[in-house]
Amino acid sequence: MARHTRHSTLTPWLVTALATALTGAAGCTPDATSAQSGTRTTPAPGAAGIGDTLHPGLGNGGYTVRHTDLALRFAEDLKTYTATTTLRGRATHALSRFDLDLTGTTVRSVTVDGHKTTWTRSGQELRVTPAGPVPSGRGFSVAVTVHAPVAGPEEAQKLGTTAIGMVRAKGVVQTINQPSGAHRIAAFADHPDQKAPTTITIAAPSRVNAIANGELTATRREGAYTVRRFESRQKLAPELIQIGVGHFTVVERRGPDGIKLRHALPTGHVNDLMPQLDTVVPKALRFLTRRLGPFPLRTYGIYATPMGGELETQSLTLLATEELTKDGMETNGSDAIVAHEISHEYFGNSVSPRRWSDLWLNEGHAVYYEGLWNQEARGTDPADAMKSAYRDATAQLRKQGPVADPRLGAFTPKDRAPYGWGAYQGGALVLYALRQKVDEATFRRIERAWVAEHRDSTAGTADFIRLASRVAGRDLGPFLRSWLYSTKLPAMPGHPDWHTS
Ligand SMILES: [Zn+2]
Repeated sequence: MARHTRHSTLTPWLVTALATALTGAAGCTPDATSAQSGTRTTPAPGAAGIGDTLHPGLGNGGYTVRHTDLALRFAEDLKTYTATTTLRGRATHALSRFDLDLTGTTVRSVTVDGHKTTWTRSGQELRVTPAGPVPSGRGFSVAVTVHAPVAGPEEAQKLGTTAIGMVRAKGVVQTINQPSGAHRIAAFADHPDQKAPTTITIAAPSRVNAIANGELTATRREGAYTVRRFESRQKLAPELIQIGVGHFTVVERRGPDGIKLRHALPTGHVNDLMPQLDTVVPKALRFLTRRLGPFPLRTYGIYATPMGGELETQSLTLLATEELTKDGMETNGSDAIVAHEISHEYFGNSVSPRRWSDLWLNEGHAVYYEGLWNQEARGTDPADAMKSAYRDATAQLRKQGPVADPRLGAFTPKDRAPYGWGAYQGGALVLYALRQKVDEATFRRIERAWVAEHRDSTAGTADFIRLASRVAGRDLGPFLRSWLYSTKLPAMPGHPDWHTS
């Protein structure tokens, strides 16, 4: 999507789609025009990815996803599970074959429209060949059942990355999917650009509790098991799925503007944690809605686990129990982490990145609003943090690549590509520079328009540049691109005394 980067003017999606069509479909002669417009009638395989330059295998070409259903059944000891994902999709061109993303796990069955079908596996791709081609524009459903172990804590350590998938430790199960762990759990179109409304059903032994994104809409007993169904009416990217199973208590509250709050807290720690949550969460919600407009969700809460992690899993932020104690809040200032994660419900969850190189739109915003929160909560000046980030910028960006065009090769798995300095501090610097360039009222209008116009959708860097220019009433393209696509940042407007390394 980054048409102002070093990439060619053909969109990466089209390059991938064409390459796959040309090499993978013997006897087919698709032409560029029909492939692009989606009117190709000769069946061809869907592309293996959507053309994300940082994660080329993620997501799948040839179809859109209308709805995702994930049904999980855990073993009595919670060490293994069976998962069935059912995607309802629509073909964007006639499909002889299509892919889902899947790594690890044992495939038990694959059906298309209820009929058993043939499939093969190649790397992280599950290749599904229906009995007959799926015509362009036709809806279809594909269901994939897998069986797998829940990763233990040792395995989680070994991976050294945030994209673990499902992990079990200290008596709870949780998921850490970002950016590419969901397809370690079950088959998905594992890219935010293919997010869809999602139903998650968890069957777990009745001795433990279970929670997932969205609203609990049904509970039933099945012998020694309890089955709970959760609905996310807003589109949910697989990377933002949260599955909690274990000994925790769900506490409900009525939040500001009628937002329903529900927190899942380790049983026995409810009284330690709720006073902080009762103060910080409503305050952060009011702070953000005042700046940005209506909250994107009707239900929100925190899943506090002893295993820890900080992850903006949609409508159910994952946070370490120790961060939320009175002591943790006072010592670590973790109220700012809560504000950061809640801001992701706007930036990253409701407005999802179109490509992973757009990650600065998630993290840059979250860091920016965390700075404003700290200003309000403890009187710190956001300019101080920005001045020090600006000083480090050139050294960091030379290593990792520009803010909106990070170089994957610059990251090790431990760096959690593309979760580098550029997306966080670099992204916040871009927004700070924009705020210096335009006045406060205009900046606020840009931000509110961004989350309103792209609500429950996907958007990228070029969209942000366009929207900012339109709202400001002048072409901000050259200015923003000089910040987003350079390893040597321009002078900071309003701060001629700031220097970069
Ligand atoms: Zn973040």
